[in-house]
Amino acid sequence: MEDCLFCKFINGAIPVDKLYEDDDFIVIRDINPQCKNHFLAITKSHFKLLADMTECDALALARILKKIPALCDKLELKNGYRLVINQGDDAGQTVPHLHIHVLSGEKMGWDPAGRKERN
Ligand code: AMP
Ligand code: ZN
Repeated sequence: MEDCLFCKFINGAIPVDKLYEDDDFIVIRDINPQCKNHFLAITKSHFKLLADMTECDALALARILKKIPALCDKLELKNGYRLVINQGDDAGQTVPHLHIHVLSGEKMGWDPAGRKERN
């Protein structure tokens, strides 16, 4: 997809430090970390929503989910980690290319809907 930031990372049009890459996805550091470690696992296939996935995309996503724990050392996952997939406006999705936030490296609270920020 021409105008997509994450597609540009994947095809090399914008250089980025790839911590991991295979046929299904890349892993980069998030530019605005919300945790000690904040990575993005970005599908190589461009689609915005889980609802848009082809069968082929779904199989790739399953492989990605299986692979993430295998990156335990590189992503500092040994004490636990959190995966987040924002979907659409209410969830605050800002990049319309499916990606999994991988958060690790510290004990986390639980305020996924950002209610405390709003109060
Ligand atoms: P989301 O809001 O769930 O769509 O997540 C998009 C994420 O991409 C945010 O956490 C941003 O901080 C991150 N992001 C945006 N631009 C860049 C960039 N140039 N490099 C790395 N991460 C980025
Ligand atoms: Zn894209």
